Amino acid sequence: MSLFQGLTFLTTVNDLKALPPDGLEVAFAGRSNAGKSSAINTLANHTRLAYVSKTPGRTQHINYFDFGQLRRLVDLPGYGYAAVPEKIRLHWQGLLGKYLETRPNLIGLVLIMDSRRPLTELDRLMLDFFMPTGKPIHCVLTKADKLNNQEKTQALRTVKKEFADYPHITVQLFSSLKKQGVDEVEQVVGAWFAAAMATEQDEEPMDGE
Ligand code: GDP
Repeated sequence: MSLFQGLTFLTTVNDLKALPPDGLEVAFAGRSNAGKSSAINTLANHTRLAYVSKTPGRTQHINYFDFGQLRRLVDLPGYGYAAVPEKIRLHWQGLLGKYLETRPNLIGLVLIMDSRRPLTELDRLMLDFFMPTGKPIHCVLTKADKLNNQEKTQALRTVKKEFADYPHITVQLFSSLKKQGVDEVEQVVGAWFAAAMATEQDEEPMDGE
């Protein structure tokens, strides 16, 4: 079975203090309405695993999904939804930043962006929080079914060019509507977990040492 098809809901947390103490995490972040819930549902081949919200940005909590073997997908709250009061928005942006900067369990960030307008100011803010960690970033440009071939090439080029200096960044197109790009996300996230698990094994003390 593919990695994402085994994905199950684990828990919801509302506070950084309540994050699980163990496990390896790959976080999915994105602007409200970018298509993050749809992407998670498409990857898992499950129509309502991550709720596709009718009122984007309302759900300000962190959902944990489980791949098994203590590997988790962390669905972070969508940022930038205008209808949320500014004070609450800033509060959540701060929490997201802190999580991205300091969470030791986090091994990589999947940044979901609408392929028609990637790298908004808040996307850049999230990247600013995360890039100093040196951990890998995978940019998933969603709703690619809305672009023609020329626009697709341009969208990829824009993101690649912007981060040409950061060695651990990859970019792909994705469409939940057409179910395109699933294998590529699987490969990237699967490789992150495999590398992190190999490192953990190397670091485990041997008996008698
Ligand atoms: P989230 O707020 O980032 O979780 O975004 P959602 O997954 O709720 O999607 C926001 C809107 O974009 C919904 O109306 C979805 O149906 C639509 N959408 C999401 N992914 C795609 C896609 O790949 N193609 C198209 N055409 N629409 C999409």
